Amino acid sequence: MPIINKHGKNIELSCEVFPPKKDLSISGIYETLDSIKSLDPDFISVTYGAGGSNSKKTAEIASYIQNSCNINALAHLTAVGVTPQKLNDLLTEYKANGIKRILALRGDKPRDMSDEDFENRHYKYAGDIVKEIFEFGGFHIYGACYPEKHPEAATLEEDIKHIKEKVDLGVSGLITQMFFDNEKLYSYIDKLDKAGIHVAIHAGIMPITAPNQLGTSVSLSGSSIPTALSNLIAEHADDPEGMKKAGVEYAIKQVEDLIAHGIDGIHLYSMNKADITKQIFEAVI
Ligand code: FAD
Repeated sequence: MPIINKHGKNIELSCEVFPPKKDLSISGIYETLDSIKSLDPDFISVTYGAGGSNSKKTAEIASYIQNSCNINALAHLTAVGVTPQKLNDLLTEYKANGIKRILALRGDKPRDMSDEDFENRHYKYAGDIVKEIFEFGGFHIYGACYPEKHPEAATLEEDIKHIKEKVDLGVSGLITQMFFDNEKLYSYIDKLDKAGIHVAIHAGIMPITAPNQLGTSVSLSGSSIPTALSNLIAEHADDPEGMKKAGVEYAIKQVEDLIAHGIDGIHLYSMNKADITKQIFEAVI
């Protein structure tokens, strides 16, 4: 669903879903996808458990997106979760299922992996699997980037140097970590540009629709929370419906501003919530 901004530029809209937790049935996610597909997004991405334990579900859901919803699937894949054989098997399976887009990530240390196994993993960084996927051929490779720096990087400049390496190895689109202050993204895009990185940037937008959402994934992401957003959360601490509405409005404002600034793409962290995804995308298309 490319939309055209006021400068006449196409902007891709996409979103992320994740496989259901271990014991839960996969059918819930299919209902979410059946609902989201009417938006005709440019692609839908599916996360991958860092250790690869859920890789079957990622593949199954990506295949459903590609072949039943007829929407481009972007399958996440982590370096931590694969050996050369497993990587080859997954790429072969994806190719056979018509999946042409991979988000190549390093992944973080899974809870059930020892420090020693993590240190001795075969592929150290995302760039290491980007190289292999590029050589395998036939995939449009995406990578992750961090407007406020990856938490482990010493400096933003150092981090951008490694992003450039990923791009030189074959990444042709970058999806950003969530951010809540667009100015941080604009300043980051300037820096990427100066570092010679000119691939499409897909801005990762996480709607904050419940106060407790800040507790886990958001705090781990290292993304800063602007005062306007923290005030809004404090204001609706005991008002779930009000928080949901205010969080959706905050995300819509972020997206409208990004579109006005000519961003290449908007990537919504849907949290598997079709209603919120639809409210935000329908407001901007
Ligand atoms: P890398 O690009 O390898 O970078 C990791 C760190 O190492 C950075 O600090 C970087 O500066 C540094 N670095 C990179 N290359 C080198 C090098 N050659 N030498 C020295 N240092 C280097 N995790 C999951 O488990 N599953 C998912 O599905 C998933 N989806 C994600 C989607 C998006 C859009 C984003 C932003 C993150 C996602 N993550 C996911 C989280 C991700 O795995 C973590 O953020 C992880 O810590 C870093 O992954 P990366 O691909 O950015 O790593």
